Amino acid sequence: MGSMHTGLEEEKNGFERMARYYAERAAGEAGLIVTGGIAPNRAGWVAPFGAKMSTGKEAKKHKVITDAVHAEGGHICMQILHTGRYAYHPFAVAPSKLRSPITPFTPKALSEKGIESTIQDFVNCAAYAIEAGYDGVEIMGSEGYLINQFIAAKTNQRTDHWGGSYENRTRFPLEIIRRTRERIGRGPIIIYRLSMLDLVEEGSTWEEVLQLALAVEKAGASVINTGIGWHEARIPTIATMVPRAEFTWVTKRLMGKVGIPLITTNRINNAATAEKVLADSCADMVSMARPFLADPELVKKSREGKENTVNTCIACNQSCLDHVFDRKVASCLVNPRACFETVYKEEEAKNKKKVAVVGAGPSGLTCAITLAQRGHEVSLYEKHPEIGGQFLYASRIPGKEEFRETLRYYRTMLDQWPITVHLNSEFKMNQAKDFDEVVISTGVRPRIPSIPGMDHENVVDYAQVLEGKVKIGQRVAIIGAGGIGFDMASFLGHPSMDKEEFEAFWGVTRDESVRGGLESHTLEIKNPRVLTMLKRSPGKAGKDLGKTTGWIHRETLRKLGVVQMSSVEYIKIDDKGLYIRHQGEEKCLEVAHIVICAGQESVNELAESLQSMGSKVHLIGGALKAGEIDAARAIREGYELALKL
Ligand code: NAP
Ligand code: SF4
Repeated sequence: MGSMHTGLEEEKNGFERMARYYAERAAGEAGLIVTGGIAPNRAGWVAPFGAKMSTGKEAKKHKVITDAVHAEGGHICMQILHTGRYAYHPFAVAPSKLRSPITPFTPKALSEKGIESTIQDFVNCAAYAIEAGYDGVEIMGSEGYLINQFIAAKTNQRTDHWGGSYENRTRFPLEIIRRTRERIGRGPIIIYRLSMLDLVEEGSTWEEVLQLALAVEKAGASVINTGIGWHEARIPTIATMVPRAEFTWVTKRLMGKVGIPLITTNRINNAATAEKVLADSCADMVSMARPFLADPELVKKSREGKENTVNTCIACNQSCLDHVFDRKVASCLVNPRACFETVYKEEEAKNKKKVAVVGAGPSGLTCAITLAQRGHEVSLYEKHPEIGGQFLYASRIPGKEEFRETLRYYRTMLDQWPITVHLNSEFKMNQAKDFDEVVISTGVRPRIPSIPGMDHENVVDYAQVLEGKVKIGQRVAIIGAGGIGFDMASFLGHPSMDKEEFEAFWGVTRDESVRGGLESHTLEIKNPRVLTMLKRSPGKAGKDLGKTTGWIHRETLRKLGVVQMSSVEYIKIDDKGLYIRHQGEEKCLEVAHIVICAGQESVNELAESLQSMGSKVHLIGGALKAGEIDAARAIREGYELALKL
């Protein structure tokens, strides 16, 4: 299980919560767990008062974690992470006084004395970690953090013996490994996370990576883990549109070149993919981080041949990384219990009830399954022929195919638990009397703005398009520039990409001589349509998209040549197209279709009628609140309600 900061590191009772969180993953048969990053000193904090281990007192707090993991038969290493210039606080230090493009703080350049004491802090931190019961440490040398900043000429402009030549620039990590090994002895594991593909200008060449890997082994590391891309890189490396196991070719290049095991990583989210990676000799071990948030029992279930029951990570980042970057405790969109193991109690219901769940979108499905797992008698009603709701639509967007995995998981759970499923079935008012409780999870419908000519045959809503009910023409106007507007532009603008197309589109090269693996020219994927996306409000579109993924959507649409217009007033629609007022001018966008992506409205009329009849009714998800509906909230509401009933 790969390292992932959860935010519990800084929470009240965080250590008890982490102990339970990691212990459940160990019980689920994760072979070796690596914790989220812990700073070796104050300058290395991720943010003010971030997790740090530089005293015995701080180390002691970790004992509860290592004991809990060992009690489950697991193994756990602690990651030592010094953020360098990525630190989100004024004490930031770096090899040179150069601010990163993703943080507001300019770091102080470390003096030679400062470098020596930082190395010592890494070594002390490792020794404390072993004292706290960890089986070893992972030294974070990738993703653009301090160690990486020493290695790259772009961020290390020193003229002393810590800068200049590659030998000098790599002295910092090598001294850390060498002195750590000397201090903690031969037994404990030292994993070194090596940036094998920087994906930034002036990054390392492959020859340099190989040279460093050999030196890392010699310095005393037991295992080398793969790092792909700095945080400031503008190439997606873990988001859902990255093809599965996209970057394992990078680790494969190092196979056979060093004598210690290699770990590969990034977008490996199920056992079958992991097995293939190993069978193809891409690595000796596979690391997954987010997939263990989605399902702590991923390995155990897969080993028992129950892969269909795995709740698969869809790489959305919505509740994990986006939370962490917002300084909130991480969780998982498809598994709200992740990191809240001590908060949510999944106990058998004392008072078993008959419950009707109306609407089989993510919220209703989660609710129905959790209710059944607690022993309630559940009937699920869905008016469409298929379950899935908004997830069905999302799964049709290029690059969002992973959403199908969640639908597969739900289908398996519906088969596994005693839930009576009624498809093509509208729940009738008079049926409510047969149930103790009724859950309304009827979701949302597209909001249809009132523009003259709205009933024209060329106007369609996003649901009709994604259901394949209309053949969309070559020139299209999209009304609305929220998440669905962006998805629609992607859907109409390009098909799904395979690995080769992905690399060409984003400018990743396998040419070993190219620094950072970054191609200077990217291949344009031809957009078959002329797309214009509009909104009434001023400002750039897409600023409310996910923190860690919004830039990818914005960049994708830019590359597809989608025209974006803000501060638009809609005037009317007729045979010719969409008439708008923009920058004081009236004009007609001559389009074959106008696709409405103007937000949603709750579908909850049934609830109001049932409530007036005195039924016990509960509203969740989009049916409760359509504004800013997101799947994470919908699923969490379904789960929380099911635990309460
Ligand atoms: P949204 O984000 O609220 O966007 C609605 C869009 O419609 C806005 O651009 C808005 O712009 C426009 N609009 C609202 N009322 C309108 C009206 N009466 N007439 C014309 N235009 C109107 O909603 P959404 O796009 O449906 O997405 C729903 C939720 O799912 C959001 O929380 C979204 O973040 C999430 N989502 C995210 C992603 C992603 O991250 N890729 C993908 C899909 C969905 P103006 O008011 O300026 O005209
Ligand atoms: Fe995976 Fe999304 Fe869950 Fe994060 S929130 S672990 S990316 S499914």
